[in-house]
Amino acid sequence: PTTPSHHHPLPHNKPRRGAHMASGPTTPRQQQQQQQQRKDKLLIIMGATGAGKSRLSLDLATRFPFFEIVNSDKMQLYAGLDITTNKLPIPDRLGVPHHLLGEFDPRHGDFTPGQFRAVAGQAISSITNRRKVPMLVGGSNSFIHALLVDRFEPGSNVFEPGFNASVSSELRYNCCFLWVDVSLAVLTEYLCKRVDEMLDSGMLDELAEFCDPDRQDEDESTTSQTALRKAIGVPEFTRYFKRYPPQGRGEEGDDRERRRAYEEAVRAIKDNTCQLAKRQIEKILRLKGGGWDLQRLDATDAFRAVVATTSSDEDDGKRWSEIWERQVVKPSVKIVKRFLME
Ligand code: ATP
Repeated sequence: PTTPSHHHPLPHNKPRRGAHMASGPTTPRQQQQQQQQRKDKLLIIMGATGAGKSRLSLDLATRFPFFEIVNSDKMQLYAGLDITTNKLPIPDRLGVPHHLLGEFDPRHGDFTPGQFRAVAGQAISSITNRRKVPMLVGGSNSFIHALLVDRFEPGSNVFEPGFNASVSSELRYNCCFLWVDVSLAVLTEYLCKRVDEMLDSGMLDELAEFCDPDRQDEDESTTSQTALRKAIGVPEFTRYFKRYPPQGRGEEGDDRERRRAYEEAVRAIKDNTCQLAKRQIEKILRLKGGGWDLQRLDATDAFRAVVATTSSDEDDGKRWSEIWERQVVKPSVKIVKRFLME
């Protein structure tokens, strides 16, 4: 294990006024660095879905107890579908304050990147004002981009194919970026396993209630307007439940057909999740290419160990967390310490 948190002083988020003036700024690069350092500090954990962002955020927040987490997953902003959207359950948050996690009513419609910029900006200011340090965690890169750039142009989307706006590297916070990366082949294998685990832990019941065609009839707007309609799992199972409504009110009889339709829905969820991961990695590379100083942590070996884990073997679990600790947490702690001391 790495240095315990009490060895670490509470950071002053902004350098003392005048501290940087001791020898006076010299080169334009130094001036730019000093300007950056005068801004509020923000740690950002990036990565594709399933790559271990939440795990790393907790590993860091438990070592450095002044961190508070701000969610930047666009589906986890809303209340509901906790299993389907993979929200960290409250007991698993280990007492670390989490902001913008399930706080909004999905019936009020989708957040725009501009709205996210506003609410996440407020959350960050309130954390900083309490002399805590914000940590942004979540995979929605368009929201992260909207939040961080100095000048945000509403309506612009730097990730849209063919859109030629470039990524700006002028950011409104003093940012430290950690990028948890897992090779796509290993991540794909892990994501398929994770979907099976989510189904085992009640995703189907959650979706049955959410997508129930009978519930839709009471209130036409239920799924068509909710911001959660796009969460992976909803479109796939809405199709399934139309044919086989929950509680067996639909086509009875051919169990084999039903089984096949179910497996098709699960297959589609797995495919769409892997597609999402691939697109997220492309977006991260785009941001890196645009000058964002992302520090990559390779979690592939750790995930290889996870994929090889059988639930009956306790040593498997130990093996993966030992690799994770050594290859991801340790280097992250080093980077974060340096950042906090700057
Ligand atoms: P885009 O502009 O494509 O929406 P983005 O970077 O803003 O990309 P992503 O987080 O990549 O946002 O989400 C893209 C899509 O992936 C969402 O619209 C949703 O369908 C799905 N998705 C993202 N996060 C989740 C989640 N936690 N649970 C379920 N589905 C999700």
